[in-house]
Amino acid sequence: MEKTEICLGIESTAHTFGVSLVTGRGEILSDERSVYKPPPGRGIHPRESAQHHAQQAAPTLKEAFRKAGVKPSQIDAVAFSQGPGLGPCLRTGATVARALALYLKVPLVPVHHAIGHIELAALKTGAVDPLVVLVSGGHTSIVAFSAGRWRVFGETEDITLGNLLDAFAREAGLPSPGGPMVERLAGEGKRFVELPLTVKGNDVSYSGLLTYTVKLLREGVHRLEDLCFSLQEVAFSALAEAAERALAFLEKKELLLAGGVAANRTLQKKLRIVAREHGARFLVVPREYSGDCGAQIAWTGILAYRCGVQVSVERSQVKPRWRLDSVPIPWRR
Ligand code: AMP
Ligand code: MG
Repeated sequence: MEKTEICLGIESTAHTFGVSLVTGRGEILSDERSVYKPPPGRGIHPRESAQHHAQQAAPTLKEAFRKAGVKPSQIDAVAFSQGPGLGPCLRTGATVARALALYLKVPLVPVHHAIGHIELAALKTGAVDPLVVLVSGGHTSIVAFSAGRWRVFGETEDITLGNLLDAFAREAGLPSPGGPMVERLAGEGKRFVELPLTVKGNDVSYSGLLTYTVKLLREGVHRLEDLCFSLQEVAFSALAEAAERALAFLEKKELLLAGGVAANRTLQKKLRIVAREHGARFLVVPREYSGDCGAQIAWTGILAYRCGVQVSVERSQVKPRWRLDSVPIPWRR
């Protein structure tokens, strides 16, 4: 077989320290992760998560190389999540990436974490020119590619969908991550409880919904299962409504669901209906690649590296608040 590039990708924006080796043909040779779990009832503490990443960096790297059957000397580029994310976590991953790139004398490739979610989802589903609904701990955005960048056509005005589910789960005493727990309990919900749904144009807003649902939870009148069921219904319906408007406007022929919350079956069902009604193909990132992972960084690293995107160590400061629509995408047209 023809020789191809190999990129090592490091993910460290929040809870996950991930290392992956991916080829220029899109083969994921390995994808190792170590996930920081905050103590029950608490959110991610950035410094504790960064300490977790620092402790797990060496064993995770070692395992990624071992599983891939690749030697460090075979690597063509080192890609890392430059942002957005939690400062201490990003800095830990960036430090590891810089050290490796310098030692191996290969280019250091900066990757935007959210674009990593999108590109890995596109690789795994074959999406070509989708309207993307990106839902994770860090993002709730409706985006499409136009004139050199991923453009935002709708987003949350306050907290993300992942935050909403995680914060509610935390209030209910459920372990982290909250999203899958809420999904499980919602499956046993029977009664719909009226909750406030907010859509403004193509944007959604979830903080009022969170406050109200937590208030009901504390009053203890409703079953937790019913609240989980209703919370999912309202939050996902708001997003589906916003996505539908964007899809009708842009007339894209693919609707791609990506990011950690994409694993949720109820959300998938709602968006599948939206796609069908507008004659678009519905695509969803496979569950094993929906959450944060090194593969999203390694694959996007390959695409960027091929276009000559790289950064010197001196200029590789992390960008905790990097916006997705500010990043030029030279590999798409
Ligand atoms: P990411 O930041 O992309 O790793 O995504 C993490 C987010 O996805 C967290 O907020 C999780 O609670 C959420 N999540 C993971 N699985 C599910 C699921 N099955 N349903 C809802 N949310 C989920
Ligand atoms: Mg993410």
